[in-house]
Amino acid sequence: MRAASQPVNEWIDGFPFLANKPILDFLNTKPLLAEGPMELLPDVRALERWVIASKIVTSQKARSVVRNWRHSAEAAAFLRQLTAFRERLREAVIRIENGSTPTDAFLAEVNSLLLQYPLRTSLHKRDAKVVREISFEPHKPADLWAPIIEATADLLVETESSRIRQCESCVLHFFDTSKKGSRRWCSMNICGNKLKVAAYQRRKRENDSTMS
Ligand SMILES: [Zn+2]
Repeated sequence: MRAASQPVNEWIDGFPFLANKPILDFLNTKPLLAEGPMELLPDVRALERWVIASKIVTSQKARSVVRNWRHSAEAAAFLRQLTAFRERLREAVIRIENGSTPTDAFLAEVNSLLLQYPLRTSLHKRDAKVVREISFEPHKPADLWAPIIEATADLLVETESSRIRQCESCVLHFFDTSKKGSRRWCSMNICGNKLKVAAYQRRKRENDSTMS
């Protein structure tokens, strides 16, 4: 996982990737804004862009498989299931953020998906070391469950669950990887600076009004 100090590309192809946990990036594909929820995965074409932007799908072969789903009813049905799952995931994440744990029903759903869609890994030699890598090659839309449910499990077993937070300024969820663990905003660029500027202007206005 990248260090918080490294420059990161926070937006890729119109999707936010600032959560430090892949599954929270997935959750953030439907930010609930003050004016209402914004669906970033409205259709299969958007899902295709997201799986590439999120690097779930990397190989040329996998990309062309996913591209062929554009007009597939199976892919559309999968997307409906996936976005419904995202809302149950949201409920679980909000429970964690409130210091609670996910419901038993949610854990049962995750367990069932883990069983049905195991993520294949394989061992490779790299620089005289053996490393374990995910070898994900989707054939049908439902195969996308494998990386998504693996990432869900990874979040649920996170021991530092107090670092799973919602941005104080907007609605995005993130995992705080900062050293002090006191990050309050999804991103300094997007929300942190905006808030700091707003606070500065407010102070300035208050100072100006007390001076006059
Ligand atoms: Zn924010």
